[in-house]
Amino acid sequence: MLDVSDLSVSYGTIRAVRGISFTLGKGELVSLLGANGAGKSSTLKCIAGALKASGGSITLGGKDITSASPEQVVRAGLATVPETRDVFPDLTVAENLMLGAYIHRRDQAGNRQNLERLHTLFPRLAERSHQPAGTLSGGEQQMLVIARALMSRPTVLLLDEPSLGLAPAIVERIFEMIETLKKSGLTILLVEQNVNQALAVADRAYVMRLGTVVTSGTPDEIRATSDLSAHYLGG
Ligand code: ATP
Repeated sequence: MLDVSDLSVSYGTIRAVRGISFTLGKGELVSLLGANGAGKSSTLKCIAGALKASGGSITLGGKDITSASPEQVVRAGLATVPETRDVFPDLTVAENLMLGAYIHRRDQAGNRQNLERLHTLFPRLAERSHQPAGTLSGGEQQMLVIARALMSRPTVLLLDEPSLGLAPAIVERIFEMIETLKKSGLTILLVEQNVNQALAVADRAYVMRLGTVVTSGTPDEIRATSDLSAHYLGG
């Protein structure tokens, strides 16, 4: 579904991502792990079209999206939830959601149907439909940005640190929701510092360190790598 091959990303002379390769099969949930500064967010931003690759290639469903713009990437079927969790605070929850349907703006019936599906998945958002998004709690805002990304009807979803800064009970709910999305057939790339939880939901994982992939495998294989927590995950 998603193939990242020998991808490099640089900020001037800083080489944040140094020739990494990984794949996501259809319906797979793959976690990208690693300590702060390992290059996870840069990888996601590059896939999303927000950063230019300095080398390598990215294909989505066989289509080359290496140099695609953010809008072209969304149209190709890939949506991203950045770690910044930015909602439009003065717009209502419903208005925020409709912005996610931008590429389908002529298909009102399809958008309504998708919105109903998302309201079932996120009942809290349905209850708060007419409330300004800025008044939602952190957890609710995280739900909103995920639901907004799903309004573009992606086949692949990239999630950057969805649990960041949230209370444990909320984190639990977010991970339950990620599992529900996986069961619905969505292909998901999950960037997380919350290693145990990320491995609990993943089919496979890749561990990054200083811009390279140092380990990959099933959650059991990753857990069995004894020096993982000490060297790559910050203890
Ligand atoms: P974190 O979890 O802290 O976001 P990360 O694994 O996602 O970590 P990146 O944010 O991709 O890592 O950062 C990788 C490297 O690129 C780091 O050395 C970082 O300082 C550098 N970097 C990130 N963004 C920029 C930028 N806009 N300008 C210059 N260097 C940057």
